[in-house]
Amino acid sequence: MKNTVVIKKCKEYKVPDIQARIEEGLELLGGLDKFVKKGESVLLKVNCLFPSEPEKAVITHPEFVRAVVRIVKRNASKVMIGDSPGFGNFTGSKKTGYREVAMQEGAELVEFKEEGEAGSNRALVYRNFKIAGAVAAADRIINLPKLKTHGLMYMTMCVKNMFGIIVGAGKPAYHMRAGRDKMLFARMLVDLFTAKTPDLNIVDGIVAMQGNGPGGGEPAYTGVIVMGEDGFAVDHVIPQIVGLNPDRVYTNAVYRREVLGGAAPDVEIAGENIADVAYKGFKPVPGEKDTPDSKLNTGVTFGTLYRFGRDLITPKQVYLKKLCTGCRSCVKVCPVSALVYDEKKKRIICDYNKCIRCFICQEICPEKAIVIKKPLLGKILG
Ligand code: SF4
Ligand code: SF4
Repeated sequence: MKNTVVIKKCKEYKVPDIQARIEEGLELLGGLDKFVKKGESVLLKVNCLFPSEPEKAVITHPEFVRAVVRIVKRNASKVMIGDSPGFGNFTGSKKTGYREVAMQEGAELVEFKEEGEAGSNRALVYRNFKIAGAVAAADRIINLPKLKTHGLMYMTMCVKNMFGIIVGAGKPAYHMRAGRDKMLFARMLVDLFTAKTPDLNIVDGIVAMQGNGPGGGEPAYTGVIVMGEDGFAVDHVIPQIVGLNPDRVYTNAVYRREVLGGAAPDVEIAGENIADVAYKGFKPVPGEKDTPDSKLNTGVTFGTLYRFGRDLITPKQVYLKKLCTGCRSCVKVCPVSALVYDEKKKRIICDYNKCIRCFICQEICPEKAIVIKKPLLGKILG
């Protein structure tokens, strides 16, 4: 069955424009009533990696969220905006603009806390998940990802954004279980998305993040909104818009190989054509090449080699003393306690033997002081 993915051009965060483009997209997907019935409660799952100013392109833009709230309110009895940031306070932060939007538009801000459950019998690896209670309880989930590069998964879009429904210590625990096996982590994300599938996905690609994403990259003015009922289909289309290989995204690769048996998702594009919105010069994660035939770095391909051999070729994060403010957020989130802050030298020290290359520290560093680099030998070997 073909999955419709709607692409709409939108250059700025002007609410009437965003609202109009999303309304047009909804019409092409079957109308709002298909996704939200009268009187239902709706949870908007934004991407708030950590509280950050909207212009830095770390979070789903608050004006984008405002536009969706206005549309959904026509049918919903209650609209919630929720996430569980890697650090920082979601409901209390003034930086993000979400508080203002919620107050002005009559929505409720929800920091994911109490645990609910989600399960699937179509699991690749993980059958059951503990998830946020608010997500489990809502009648409808609308996924509002930010288009960004991602140090661990290559890009973060619909599927990766739903990892935020895992609360608190649950997130590091999944990273620890996967260790350096990126494919295992991607399988978990695919299972989670299958267990708790959003009703609709609307990606904020008006200004994306390129380079050292998902927390430390630069804005890219990609100018698109991409939406669809099937998040896997949307995730297959977006890399093509920014000139990257969709199969280079780990979750896409797992879905294609292990769920679709090798076939590409069956997608029908509506709205704009990919060629008409194509963004040139989008920077992937540093140290990662991207060509149509570039291969995944599974993190376990060289598992039988000696550790030093493996470390000579796999990407690793480095800590830039010049940019580091010593906030220690990275130290707190590391699931294997591989990091310490050296008071005398005023820098982060990493025990790379302990480190499982989950790149959570790089994700959440608010100063762009952690970057992923590929060693020279790794670059040569591709
Ligand atoms: S590397 Fe980043 S997160 Fe870690 S202490 Fe420095 S500024 Fe904070
Ligand atoms: S040091 Fe960073 S990449 Fe390594 S395990 Fe800790 S959080 Fe993950």
